[in-house]
Amino acid sequence: MDTPKPLLSISDRARELHQRSIVVDTHVDTTQRLFFDGFGLGQRHSDGSVDIPRLRDGGVDAIFFAVWMPGTITGQKAVDSAFRQLDAVHLEIGRHPHELVFARTAADIHRARANHRIAVLLAVEGGHMMNRDLNVLREFSARGVTYMTLTHARTTDWADASTDAPLHNGLSDFGREVIHEMNRLGIMVDISHVSDTCFSDVLETSAAPIFASHSSCRALCPSPRNLTDDMIHALAQKGGVVQINFHVGFLSREFRAAESAKPHLEKRTDEEAQRICGENMACQILESDRIVRRLVGEGELPRVDWTEIVRHIDHATRIAGVDHVGLGSDFDGANMPFGMEDASRMPLITEALLQKGYSEIDIGKILGGNMLRFMQGVEAARESLTRKGRTE
Ligand SMILES: [Zn+2]
Repeated sequence: MDTPKPLLSISDRARELHQRSIVVDTHVDTTQRLFFDGFGLGQRHSDGSVDIPRLRDGGVDAIFFAVWMPGTITGQKAVDSAFRQLDAVHLEIGRHPHELVFARTAADIHRARANHRIAVLLAVEGGHMMNRDLNVLREFSARGVTYMTLTHARTTDWADASTDAPLHNGLSDFGREVIHEMNRLGIMVDISHVSDTCFSDVLETSAAPIFASHSSCRALCPSPRNLTDDMIHALAQKGGVVQINFHVGFLSREFRAAESAKPHLEKRTDEEAQRICGENMACQILESDRIVRRLVGEGELPRVDWTEIVRHIDHATRIAGVDHVGLGSDFDGANMPFGMEDASRMPLITEALLQKGYSEIDIGKILGGNMLRFMQGVEAARESLTRKGRTE
């Protein structure tokens, strides 16, 4: 039996509101731990950010596990690895039938919660994994994938990434076909990681609303991975949501400036993590998080606190309206701010929003209500395309 961690100094009102709300986190990289480390979600762990006990402590009702590999892995190798990662998540869900349940729709999430299960959803982070083959995309859908991030850090052979040289001036013609097929299948289109031009092309092409599964606000932290106010506004106009990322390098202007002023630190961190972990990506991610924390302790990098997350939520809400903002932590895939080390800390966000004067209804929307509505919007678009297809 786990002993609950009495670490959160939050008010009874916030705790009650948080428990009552549907809390959705649209992006974690814990899949890597399942895949590389034979990691089990059942026990409480002292490292990383996600396991069942900590999700329970954090009141998380639905969580999207991303399948990921670097953009350097391509072709059939990427496809096979993606399928194996999807299998790893399905296997782990099967090991915890009283705690977890596989889900793909908003209705599934409601049902999971009514049955006291945590809904686990699947995502593919990077269009390179479909190997330019719409049949692979269809197979992803058949295996339960609910969203696909169009690129990761590298430009793919059909979409430009925000952190790489452009090759297609946004989205190629084949890229447009991919979006159409995603709409038809009801796979949510995730524009986190794509270039600004690609974002505009996707917005114009998609018949369904689109979203950013794990991006923050560029007005507060000038990373190309973050969304400008114009992008946030346009996304919202089309019924989308921006799910705020907790990574310190996307939250804090100061952290980002220090990182770019000292490029040797990043190089050293990567080398040290690789020396310790070899090719094990899950290990590399956790190790680099430990190293970054050590560098903060040594005064080499500035400390970033979890309250920065709330600043980004607040900004996005002001730009997009309260109906278009949510949470996409990037747990187990990025460097978490102090105080938001793991999923058990999520209720802090509810407390902070209450203290900022947000209404209980609006907080419920940000915690998960908006994402559920967005999912229903994508489902409705799929149904209308199916109807149209039948009458043509
Ligand atoms: Zn990412």
